[in-house]
Amino acid sequence: MTPKLSAVESPPELHTNRIEAIISVRDLIHRYQDRTALNGVSFEVRPAELFGLLGPNGSGKTTLFRILSTLMVPSAGTAQIAGLDVVREPAALRRHIGVVFQAQSVDQKLTTYENLWHQGHLYGLRGAALKQRIKEILTRVGLQDRARDRVETFSGGMQRRIELAKGLLHHPEVLLLDEPTTGLDPGARRDLWQYLQILRDQERVSVIVTTHLMEEAERCDRLAILNEGKLVALGTPAELTREIGGDVVLLEAHEPEELAGRIRNMFHIDAIAMGTHVRLEIENGHRFVPDVVEAFPGEIQALSVSKPTLEDVFIHRTGHKFWNEEPMPQKGKRKY
Ligand code: ADP
Repeated sequence: MTPKLSAVESPPELHTNRIEAIISVRDLIHRYQDRTALNGVSFEVRPAELFGLLGPNGSGKTTLFRILSTLMVPSAGTAQIAGLDVVREPAALRRHIGVVFQAQSVDQKLTTYENLWHQGHLYGLRGAALKQRIKEILTRVGLQDRARDRVETFSGGMQRRIELAKGLLHHPEVLLLDEPTTGLDPGARRDLWQYLQILRDQERVSVIVTTHLMEEAERCDRLAILNEGKLVALGTPAELTREIGGDVVLLEAHEPEELAGRIRNMFHIDAIAMGTHVRLEIENGHRFVPDVVEAFPGEIQALSVSKPTLEDVFIHRTGHKFWNEEPMPQKGKRKY
């Protein structure tokens, strides 16, 4: 289903005229006993930006998310949203943020309207104003016809849209979402991302999304890529992939370590072995391919030449794959 655009409400009053960045994270550190989950992370998010926190499992996304949503106090460093400090002013800050957790928070046995009614009360909204706001927000997420239906009768995608409506009820300037598309089918994922873009464009909400999915990260205006608690890259998806330049060549080989060494010696290229492949970054990869195949006859089982992706940015910055347990991505592989 395509999300319905609506013009039922004017943008919320923004506090962003006063401040350049709506979110400012400085040298954030978090330790759980002896484990360091965040290790000096700094970045800023601009007003009306769709900002992604991308990283593999264990990279620190949830920890960062919990600190920004004031559920956890960092070990060191600072984080501010709308000019308010997450540690010193959590109550005031919460009025500026909407939070959508991975775990479901809607009550299945209640109707959509009842869920939102209770949520409104938590934020001090009452009576006719709350009624009007529920109507507006349900129109915004395309569920205006389902207000009186019990949530348990809805699809996963619709339930996630109610979560979104709950998070937005009090007109926050910032919406924080933790892996919001987990468990959704591709159609519902697409819909949800369209809603996020609508929020950014029509209500100027800053949307922060954690994800471990490259295709979702590609949709963000800017990204912070995390690895083992550290920020390894920051920028627009296009900037990040452009930084690699040229092409990425993957060569499948029986002895990737050995082949990588020999390619380095012969071509003076920084080839590295990764799993069953040799990987290298090079300008005009298509010209290099015939040379390398000829130089090592019979040693290359298959190869691919492709433009760099965000996965390549991750490899470029960390020296290892995004998902260590998975095979190298198969980019239009050609048998040789
Ligand atoms: P992500 O959301 O990217 O998977 P997390 O923030 O959940 O990353 O975890 C970052 C690191 O902190 C991991 O090494 C994880 O094992 C560790 N960690 C997370 N929560 C706890 C906890 N409650 N106690 C101890 N270690 C934790």
